[in-house]
Amino acid sequence: MTEQYKEPAPYKKDSENPFESMLARFDKACEIINLDEGIYNYLKSPVKQVIVSIPIQLDNGKVVAFEGYRVIHNTALGPSKGGVRFAHDIDLDEVKALSAWMTWKCAIANLPFGGAKGGVKCDPSKLSMSELEKITRRYTANLLEIFGPDNDIPAPDMNTNEQIMAWIMDTYSMHQRKFVTGVVTGKPIIIGGSRGRREATGRGVMIATLAALKKKGLNPEETTTVVQGFGNVGSVSAQLMAEQGSKIIAISDVSGGYYNESGININKAIEFVQKNKVLEGGNFGEKISNEELLELKCDILIPAAREDQITSQNASKIKARLIVEGANGPTAADADQILTDKGIMVIPDILANSGGVIVSYFEWVQNRLGYFWDEADINNRLNRMMNEAFEFVYLTALEKETSMRIGAYIYAIEKVSTALKLRGIYS
Ligand code: NAD
Repeated sequence: MTEQYKEPAPYKKDSENPFESMLARFDKACEIINLDEGIYNYLKSPVKQVIVSIPIQLDNGKVVAFEGYRVIHNTALGPSKGGVRFAHDIDLDEVKALSAWMTWKCAIANLPFGGAKGGVKCDPSKLSMSELEKITRRYTANLLEIFGPDNDIPAPDMNTNEQIMAWIMDTYSMHQRKFVTGVVTGKPIIIGGSRGRREATGRGVMIATLAALKKKGLNPEETTTVVQGFGNVGSVSAQLMAEQGSKIIAISDVSGGYYNESGININKAIEFVQKNKVLEGGNFGEKISNEELLELKCDILIPAAREDQITSQNASKIKARLIVEGANGPTAADADQILTDKGIMVIPDILANSGGVIVSYFEWVQNRLGYFWDEADINNRLNRMMNEAFEFVYLTALEKETSMRIGAYIYAIEKVSTALKLRGIYS
């Protein structure tokens, strides 16, 4: 299928380095709690960073070597957990930032996991299924010593899905000479996946949004919502917020956005994207750019696409009352204060999008038990755990007189550093 594989131009605009963005918040939180300098230095850097070469033969016979990454940020609380992203502009710093966010996210959600992240620098839209399968299998084979149900457990992220998780599980199992379902989460249900996993991140975003609305004394039925990104997280968040009675007035994806003040029919948009891959041509309202979408007047803004969408350049123009971060790192660190000064409540990524890793944890538990729960059970457990995490972060932020974001970092860092101190430093 692939005539000639060519790397597209990098997407990144004026964004800051995501790892620096993570560190800026980490530093602020450590300063507030006066974290021991040794522990600070330990937690600052990932414990392991691996770069692998992934040579595969394309459908046209040519050999191309892709670059793959796996970064383990920390394992104080348990085996590391984190998704695998396929993107043409991914780099080590992005994976390092994402791995650290996973450490904090798992700690906040009270999961027995540390944090990791992985990725392959490739453009999946230019690769055939068989090429993607080869990349996935070789990536897994190169990381056999890293992965494992008790070591490091990957999951889906941007441009990776259930099929890719199935190939990871199969490759790992073939090498182990046994069926190892717990090595990866986000698998298809028939081979050990969990009910509710596909919708889990969007469902978690909805749960976090409802919790925040309650604190603000707002009823979801009286709100308008804008969603950036219409993939797994964005589309499910939009669908579930619409089910809660919120009017979804704008949606977007990589092809651009649509604004409709009377509300967009999200189920129709999902059907359209299933057929056409992108929103473009869907006639859902007035066409707008992703930049315009972020600046629309609305109650709830859910950035669910990618990093650094809200920056110091557009933060002052944001008119939402509440931002719920479906994506990882959608707000650059230098935009934080601008949003706080405007009185906008931000539910940070490490809390708002933790529904995915929470249900991944359920999948891992079910794989170990060999017994599977029904969807109502999954959703009830998710609801309880997300609300508990929200409340702990909210109380920490109140107690330390800081934002929800820094409150979330403080809550996570205190937990991980307590575990580190209890385990001791093995020298
Ligand atoms: P996805 O690949 O399913 O969807 C990404 C969406 O964003 C697509 O609609 C794409 O068109 C759109 N997009 C890409 N670039 C864009 C741009 N520049 N402007 C506007 N839209 C753009 O990915 P996903 O799994 O939904 O992940 C989205 C975000 O959520 C990522 O930051 C990811 O790390 C985070 N996240 C995902 C999960 C999960 O379970 N999938 C869990 C936690 C966090």
